[in-house]
Amino acid sequence: MITKLIRQQKEYFKTGKTKNVLYRKNLLKKLLKELVANENQITEALYKDFKKPEFESVLTETAIVIQDLKHTIKKLNSWAKPKRIMPSLLNFPSSDYLYSEPYGAVLIIAPWNYPYQLALAPLVGAIAAGNTVVLKPSELTPNTSTIINQIITTVFPPEIATVIEGGVEVSTELLTQQWDYIFFTGSVNVGKIVAKAAAVHLTPTTLELGGKNPCIIDASANIKLTAKRLVWGKFLNAGQTCIAPDYILIDQSKKEDFYKAMKTEVEIAYSSTPQQSKDFARIINDKNFERLSKMLIDENCIIGGQTNAESLYIAPTVIDEPQLDSEVMKDEIFGPILPVISYQNEKDLERIIGSYDKPLSLYVFGTNSAKAKQLIQKFSFGGGCINDTIIHFANHRLPFGGIGNSGVGAYHGQHTFDTFSHKKGIVKKGNWLDLPMRYAPYKGKLNFIRKVFKWL
Ligand code: NAD
Repeated sequence: MITKLIRQQKEYFKTGKTKNVLYRKNLLKKLLKELVANENQITEALYKDFKKPEFESVLTETAIVIQDLKHTIKKLNSWAKPKRIMPSLLNFPSSDYLYSEPYGAVLIIAPWNYPYQLALAPLVGAIAAGNTVVLKPSELTPNTSTIINQIITTVFPPEIATVIEGGVEVSTELLTQQWDYIFFTGSVNVGKIVAKAAAVHLTPTTLELGGKNPCIIDASANIKLTAKRLVWGKFLNAGQTCIAPDYILIDQSKKEDFYKAMKTEVEIAYSSTPQQSKDFARIINDKNFERLSKMLIDENCIIGGQTNAESLYIAPTVIDEPQLDSEVMKDEIFGPILPVISYQNEKDLERIIGSYDKPLSLYVFGTNSAKAKQLIQKFSFGGGCINDTIIHFANHRLPFGGIGNSGVGAYHGQHTFDTFSHKKGIVKKGNWLDLPMRYAPYKGKLNFIRKVFKWL
């Protein structure tokens, strides 16, 4: 069934119909109408899947996709137009162009943590760029995956875009096929499986992965505001965010003030009984609940630490000074647990941050702007913020993606369109002049050529 579907999509792509920009825009407009009409059902599905608060669903899933889609529709003509490029003197006379060409049949594999947005945003870009799409949403958020399937089935004929639901087996089968582009969002381990499968056919990929994101709090930081922004960024989606701050590195002189401020801010956000709060999501499944619960064993929880297996609840938790080889400091946490480690100098920062792979994000809090900028330039990571967390995600002008183990490639706004387009460089040579220097016989021409390269 999968092979037949891909064949259909490839045949459809060959008809050239997807190259028509008006056709793409009409499809996207139809999609927009459907996404708007289904917004409530989508937020309800997200609530059923892991009690994601409606506010967070609108902010981080539905509204952001709708905004992105509107922006794409508005800008598509100009993004898709061939661009005039400054020609090289070496080719004189010529006019040069850059054409954006769709790759063809695209596979998108999405994770569960932002199950709607991380499935739809790449799909919008892939369709905008003129590709066909097979989308595999996460099996861990079945309600959201069902509604995504319904929407895509309503808007697109299967030869243009279709959803295939399922788990690892389905994903594995999809990866054995020959795609023209694969866009994967998920864990580092599965990212490596995807990269291997893609290598068999030399298929280009975008890999949006994860990592252990450090958050540095400098001695100059405004601690109250830092705590407030961190409580939001860390406990949003119950910490199940790829760019959530994973651990804190704080100037030792500020640690006690920071703990006090965090206690206050957690209480303001989620009350003294966060389990009753309607604004705090749940852990996605038993497996992740157990994985996270193990991180709490033998740790000094300054805030939180309570768990409830039945309701998959883990309290917003702050851990004081865990060992670097402890469970919580081994891998990406991906839950509402925030370890705090104090540092004395920059060497400590280098040692700790340098002991992990390049993260997806890094955050610095501090009013010493020069110091913050210096730290941002010192470490290698996907993207980040000074004096905040997560929000770089919301600017569609900034490319979003990792480096090294945290990913390959980037997207958002026009970057998404570009990700799904091959950039074809074309030189249109003028016929009114044909300089003789490049043609054989070469005798007596070498010095002239050397001079030309010097002038350039
Ligand atoms: P995951 O890698 O387990 O699953 C992602 C997708 O891959 C799912 O659709 C799943 O069905 C499929 N999959 C799982 N195992 C597979 C296998 N063996 N072969 C082929 N396909 C397989 O990731 P997840 O648990 O859904 O998401 C959490 C991870 O994703 C975290 O590491 C997080 O940092 C990362 N993430 C990254 C971003 C980003 O934008 N960089 C965004 C969200 C999540």
